[in-house]
Order: sequence, then C-alpha cells, then structure tokens
Amino acid sequence: MGACIMHDKNDWSFETLAIRAGHQRTLEGEHAEAIFPTSSFVFASAAEAAARFAGTEAGNIYSRMTNPTVRYFQERLAALEGGESCVATSSGMSAVLAVLLAFLKTGDHLICSSSVFGTTTVLLQNYIQKFGVQVSFVPLADLAAWEQALQANTRLLFAETPSNPLTELVDIQELARLAHRNQSLLVIDNCFCTPALQRPLELGADVIVHSATKYLDGQGRAMGGAVVGDAERVGKEVFGVLRSGGVTMSPFNAWIFLKGLETLKLRMLAHCQQALGFAQWLSEQPEIERVYYPGLASHPQHELAKKQQTGFGGVVSFVVKGGQAAAWRLIDHTQMLSITANLGDTKTTITHPATTTHSRLNAEQRAAVGIEEGLVRVSVGLENLMDIQQDVQRGLKL
Ligand SMILES: *Cc1c(COP(=O)(O)O)cnc(C)c1O
Repeated sequence: MGACIMHDKNDWSFETLAIRAGHQRTLEGEHAEAIFPTSSFVFASAAEAAARFAGTEAGNIYSRMTNPTVRYFQERLAALEGGESCVATSSGMSAVLAVLLAFLKTGDHLICSSSVFGTTTVLLQNYIQKFGVQVSFVPLADLAAWEQALQANTRLLFAETPSNPLTELVDIQELARLAHRNQSLLVIDNCFCTPALQRPLELGADVIVHSATKYLDGQGRAMGGAVVGDAERVGKEVFGVLRSGGVTMSPFNAWIFLKGLETLKLRMLAHCQQALGFAQWLSEQPEIERVYYPGLASHPQHELAKKQQTGFGGVVSFVVKGGQAAAWRLIDHTQMLSITANLGDTKTTITHPATTTHSRLNAEQRAAVGIEEGLVRVSVGLENLMDIQQDVQRGLKL
C-alpha cells in the first residue's frame, strides 16, 4: 500500500481534516487521492493470506470488506464526526439497514421518530418488523413520548434531526440521556446537517448514519452512505454486517465523496445563508400559509437549533394556500428548479412530499406527521438566490 506520510491530525481543525484526513499517499506520490478499482488484493505468500483471513495481520483482502479509496473516505468522515470508526455503505438506506441488522434481534424493541425519511419508515414497518422486532413511532420533538415508549427490551432509539421535510428537531443531549438510562443506543441520522453543522456524537449519540448521496457529495452524482461511531459497535459489529451482507460502497463513489468532503463546510455555510434568505422571502408572500425553517424565529424550536447546530441547514418546506392543486401549480411553473426527490445538491430541487417521498405512507400516517397536501419542499442550492425566488414566484402569482 506504499509509503505512509503521518501527520499529527489530532491538532487539525475541521476544515483541515476535511481536506487532509484519511489520505495515505502511495509510492507513486500522487497528490489527489487514488482510486483503487480492484475487487481483490494479492498476498505475498500463503502464510500472509492465512494471517489476513485470521485477522492476525492487518491489510486488504477483498473490496467487499476493505478498499483503500473507501478507507480514505471512512477515515475522513470519522474524523469530521469525531468518531473512532466509520463504515461506508452503498446507500443511506443500506447504512440504516446495517445498523438495524447489527444491533437488533428477535424480541427487541425499537423507537423511531414518526417524522423520519419515508423509506426508513417503510424499512421498519414492512421488513424489520417481519423478524419479530417491535417498532414504536413517537413525535420527534416530544421527549415525554420517547420516555413513555421506553421498555425493558428497547434496544435502539432512532431519530433524524432536523427531520425531512418539516425540519423538526429533537434535543439530542436529552434524548441520549433517556436512551442511556434505559441501556438503549441512540442512533442519529445526520443527513440534513452533516458534521459541518451538527456533531451528534459530542452531544451523546452512540451511532450516526448518513446518506452520502446528499450533502456529503453535494452535487448529486453518486449513491452512498456511512455509519460512524466507536470502534467496538461500528468498527466491529456494523463492519461485520458489511463483510457478510455486502452493502459495500464502490471505490469510485468513495472518491467522489472524498472530494465532496473537502468543500463540505464551505458549501453548507452557503446553503444555510441561501436557505435563510429564501425562507424569509417566502414568509413575506401572501400565497404562503406557513414556512418551516429552523433559522426563522417563528420556528418552534429556533432556540434549540441555535444551541445544537452551528447552522440551520439548506432545506426549507412551506405550505401553499390551495392544497395539492396550488402546490403542483407552483412546482410545474418553475423553469429552472429541478423537480426531483434528491436534496443536498448545488442545484435547487423542488418536491411535493405527499405524492412522492411520503406517498407510501397512507393518508392517516401523513396527516399524523404533518405532510399536508399543500406542502412543498425545497432544497435550496447555490444558484443566485434572486433567480431561485423568481422561479418560485412564477407559479405563486397566477
Ligand atoms: C436520502 C435520505 C436517506 C436515504 O439515503 P439514500 O442514499 O437515498 O439511500 C436517509 N435519511 C435521510 C434523512 C435522507 O434524506
């Protein structure tokens, strides 16, 4: 694997880690991180092969388990989240799946926030419950409800904060306290903030999951995910699921995410600034009934957002007066914005959650989590803010 140039990365700040952590330069002296498109690795002898398989000697065996480019990404993201270990996965959902498979068994109980990425709900309800795991859903922000739902067999608490699409928050420190009093693990989906704006491990969470597809890439190019946490739970237990279950990230995608991480903080700060401007502008439009953005003083958890996050994020949701017809009219009259379910892109995207990302929930479930017919979600990109507003205005002023 070539020469290893060591730096004392303990001293490095976030911006430096994002650019320098994790890279092990090879003997070729490459400046940018190398991509290793190889499925397996060659051993010097039969004895070395045996030692690698037995785990008595560190080193690569097969890219389902380890690959240098993927490892660069894992080490860089672990450094940014302040975790000991990171396991990269093929998508955000496979990161969630790997965590569930690693920590749950038949007879266990899991509590999940009801406002959570739609596919996470489906994964829990349609698949995880099949294996005799009991699942409860509670309102994300309601700590009393979390506490009430706790049982002796509650193994895991799963929350996404801020939530998709309504940007609701939960106090991570308080939730971690509740979880740990019950000997349960707290898992946080940190997709909306990324470590640039929020570091859940420092607030007491045990494990973080990521959809790298979103802001870690930041340019909508590749699917990927990651799990971050301590060496035992993530480095051994989640890694074990990866090794046997094969939810592996490709080295090509790892390289894209590595380069994404280098500009993560700059991009997140710009997304935050754009989103705040957009949310403030929306609040002044008479056709808009309500705006959801943690950066607005009107957001019920604005103070918590200021305490727990260093920025308010890039996603703004709002309710248009006139229900689905008005929401669709607004979406269909945009000319620049991308009508797509992805988020966390330099390109601004616009979605109607009730008929797309949350369409697999029934009407009752949608109502319970506040996904109204008039709700529109915008992931505010990095185009000029005036151009974004002008595009949204087309369908508003009809
Ligand atoms: C997109 C997303 C996921 C799933 O990630 P994929 O990469 O699409 O599998 C999980 N959680 C949140 C909050 C997301 O936005």
